[in-house]
Amino acid sequence: MTKITNTEPSQIEAHIKNEIQILENRIRREREESTEPEVGSDPLDRAALVQSQQIASSVRFHDSERLKALKKALLRIKADDYGFCEPCGDDIEPFRLKARPEADMCITCADNAFHKSKQMAG
Ligand SMILES: [Zn+2]
Repeated sequence: MTKITNTEPSQIEAHIKNEIQILENRIRREREESTEPEVGSDPLDRAALVQSQQIASSVRFHDSERLKALKKALLRIKADDYGFCEPCGDDIEPFRLKARPEADMCITCADNAFHKSKQMAG
């Protein structure tokens, strides 16, 4: 098993820290912006507001999930355990880590997990 020899771990660490900062800033800004929405008495206005809040909260959920994954990735780098697929233990493809530094599965396992979750959803 080869470790991520051709990718500098310190570079990845910097990349992840950068992503974490961007996400944290965005989450903080969204929190500040989402206070006191202007609600009209028009039910249509309210429906539109609820819808936009639902979209915003799903984006927020996605951001905070990604933040968690990035922080986990940072811990894995510190533990010298970064770049391995959790289910199968293989190396995660370097180009995949570049695109998604928080990835904890190789493409094969991520693909399997994706299809499994699709089957469960029906
Ligand atoms: Zn795998």
